[in-house]
Amino acid sequence: MKNFLYESLDFKESYEFFFEDEQFFLGIGPCALENLDMTLKSAEFCKSLNIKFFRAFIFKLRTSVYDFLGLGENGIDILKELKIHYPKIKLICEIFNIEQYEIIKDYIDIFQIGARSMYNTDLLSYLGKKNSPIILKRHFGSTIYEWLNMAEYYLYYGGRRILLCERGIKSFEPSYRYSFDILSSSIIRNISNIPVIADPSHPAGNSCYVKDLALAAVSAGFKGLIIETHPNPKSALSDSKQQLSHEQFLDLYKNVKELVFFYHKIKSD
Ligand code: PEP
Ligand code: MN
Repeated sequence: MKNFLYESLDFKESYEFFFEDEQFFLGIGPCALENLDMTLKSAEFCKSLNIKFFRAFIFKLRTSVYDFLGLGENGIDILKELKIHYPKIKLICEIFNIEQYEIIKDYIDIFQIGARSMYNTDLLSYLGKKNSPIILKRHFGSTIYEWLNMAEYYLYYGGRRILLCERGIKSFEPSYRYSFDILSSSIIRNISNIPVIADPSHPAGNSCYVKDLALAAVSAGFKGLIIETHPNPKSALSDSKQQLSHEQFLDLYKNVKELVFFYHKIKSD
C-alpha cells in the first residue's frame, strides 16, 4: 500500500504560515472586488478587527458567462493599493490557471483553488513546485478521499503550505446552496495533519444561515473560517444574498470568538 504524503507529513509549515501563533484562521472580504471604494471599505473593516486574511478576488469562475466574472487584470491596480495601505494583511485570490498566477503572484499571498478547479492537477503541480501557499476547496461532487488525492499532487511536487476548505457538496435539498459536510474535518483529522477550515457562506447561500453554519463548523473542530462580507451586500455584483453586512459579521464574530475560546479551553482542560 502506498504511503501518502498527506498521511505522513506534519504540516508544520502550513501551521506556521496560516496560523502563526494563533489557534484559529479567519479570513473575510467580499465575494469579488468590484471597485476601489468598496475594496477599501472592506479592507478597513478587516483591519479594524485585526483580522489577518482578506479576500481580494479579481478572477471569478461563474456558472454563466453573462455573470460578473471579476475585474480581471483591471483589478491589479486595486491589489497594488491594498498592498500599500494594508501591508500586514495577507491577500487571498482565487486562480484557475497558471497565467493568472503569473499575473498576480507579486501581490497575492495565498492562492485559492476553488471547488470547480479542485481537479486541476496541472495547476496544483505547478503551485506545488513553487511551494506557494494554497487553500484547496473541496469540489461539490467529490469524496474526501478524492479531495486528499488532489492535495497530494501539490505535496508530491514539493508544496508544503496548504489549507483544505470544506464548502459543502451537492445534495437534493433545494433550501440552501450546498450541504455542508460537518464531519469532513474530523475524518481528515484521523488520517492527516493538514489543517481544515470551513466556508459557511457558499453552502448557506443566504446570509441568515451563515452564523449557524459557522458556529457548527467551529464546534465540529474546523480550524478556521472564510466568510464573505460586503459593505453593502444588496448592491453586490455576485453572491449578494449570502454576503454578510459588516454589522451582521460583527454579531457572528462575537459568537465565534466566544466559541473558539470555549472549544480550546475544553480541549486543554
Ligand atoms: C469562493 O470562495 O469565492 C468560491 C467561488 O467558492 P467555491 O469555489 O467553493 O464555490
Ligand atoms: Mn462567492
